[in-house]
Amino acid sequence: MSKKVLVLNSGSSSLKFKLFSLDHLHVVAKGVVEEIGSPSANIKFQGCHDHALQRHDIEIEDHLQALKAMSDLLTKCGLITNLSQLHGIGHRVVHGGESFTSPVSIDQEVLKKIEELIPLAPLHNPANILGIKIALDHAPDVPQVAVFDTAFHHTMPAHAHLYALPRHLYEELGIRRYGFHGTSYSYVTRKAAKYIRKPYSEFSCICLHLGNGASIVAVKNGKCLDTSMGLTPLEGLVMGTRCGDIDPAIILFMARNLGMSIDDIDHLLNRQSGLRGICGDRDMRTIEKRAARGDTDAQLALDIFCYRARKYIGAYLSITGQPDCIIFTGGIGENSSLVRQNICQDLKWLGLELDPLINDSLDKMEKGRPAEISTKSSKIKILVIPTDEELEIARQTIKVIGNEKGQG
Ligand code: ADP
Repeated sequence: MSKKVLVLNSGSSSLKFKLFSLDHLHVVAKGVVEEIGSPSANIKFQGCHDHALQRHDIEIEDHLQALKAMSDLLTKCGLITNLSQLHGIGHRVVHGGESFTSPVSIDQEVLKKIEELIPLAPLHNPANILGIKIALDHAPDVPQVAVFDTAFHHTMPAHAHLYALPRHLYEELGIRRYGFHGTSYSYVTRKAAKYIRKPYSEFSCICLHLGNGASIVAVKNGKCLDTSMGLTPLEGLVMGTRCGDIDPAIILFMARNLGMSIDDIDHLLNRQSGLRGICGDRDMRTIEKRAARGDTDAQLALDIFCYRARKYIGAYLSITGQPDCIIFTGGIGENSSLVRQNICQDLKWLGLELDPLINDSLDKMEKGRPAEISTKSSKIKILVIPTDEELEIARQTIKVIGNEKGQG
C-alpha cells in the first residue's frame, strides 16, 4: 500500500478531508462530515472503487466521532489500515497571527500558541484546534503539520498591515491586518509564475480569490505587498454574506440608534450582509440568473460586487507597478465569465484587455490548467487558475516532514 497524506479542514460543525497518495500527489479519497452534532449529520465520501459519491446519514455527535467515521470509511475501502499508518497529516489553520509565518510541525508548544491566537479568530481557530487534538490523540506517532491561511501575507510592510489606530492596540493586542486565503494564493500564484515562466522571486501579480469569501492580493517579486482582508476575513471585497469594507462608524450607529448588541452586529455583518444583504441571495449563480431576468436587486448586488473588486485592482496596480498578470480563482473567479467581464471591462488604457470570446468559452476548456483570457495585445495577461488549497496543504506538509527528517 502506497504512503498517504491526509489533509484535514475542521470547521465548527464540519470536517473536510482529502487523502493524497504520495505518488504524484493524486487524490485517492475525499469527503466531508457535515452538521456535526445535529440530527441531520451526514458524511459525503468519494474514494471507493468507482469513485461514486456516497452519502451516509449517521449519528455524529462531535468531531471525534466525525474523525472515526472518516477513518472507518477509508479503512473499509482499503485505502488505509488505520490512521497511524499515514505518512503525515496536514491541518488547515486559519489564523497564525504574527507567530507563524510558514507551516510548522505540530507539538504541544505550537498547539498552545495556536490556542493563544483564539481571540484573533474566535470563529475558526477553536475548530481547527479541535481537529488537531483529535488527530493527535488518534495518531500520536504520525507527523502533523499546521498550514496557516495568514502565512502568505507575512511580508506585508508595516504601512500596509497597520491600521491608523493608537499603536498600543497593535503592540499589546496584535490588532493589525493579517490577510487570509493565503494557502490558495500560494498555490495559484506559483502556478501562474510557472505558466509565465518566471522565477517566483521576479513574479508580480494581482490575484482575486472570489468564492463565498472573497479577497484580493498584490504580489511583487514573489512577496505579498497588500491584501484586502484584515484582522479578520470581514474586511475588503463584498462577499456572499460578509459586508467587506464599511465605515466603522456604522457599527456605532447601529449600537446607539438600534440598540443592537455586539453579537447582533457581528451576525449582521458576517451572515446577513454582502450579496445576501443587498439582494437576499448569496449564491452568485442564482444572482446571475435573477439579474438576467431583469431583477434589479440582483443586478445591483452584481454591480456592487464587481465595482468593489475593480476599485481594489486600480489601487493595487498603483503599488505593484505593471504586474505580469491578473489572476481569477475561487468558485466565482473560476466560473463566472460575467463577473470577470464586468471587473475587467474598459481597462485597456491600464494595459488590461479581456478577450470576451475566450472568456465566454472558458467552461469548455480543460479544467485544472491555467487559462489565458486576455487578448494577444493586452500588456498584462489575465489568467483563470483553479485553486486547490488541499493540494497545497499536502505539499507543504510533505515539505515540512521532509525537512524535519533531513535534520533528524
Ligand atoms: P468557498 O469560499 O465556500 O470555498 P467557492 O470558492 O466554492 O466558495 O465559491 C462559491 C461561489 O462560487 C458561490 O457564490 C457560487 O455561486 C459561485 N459559483 C460556482 N459556480 C459558478 C458559476 N458557474 N457561475 C457563477 N458563480 C458560480
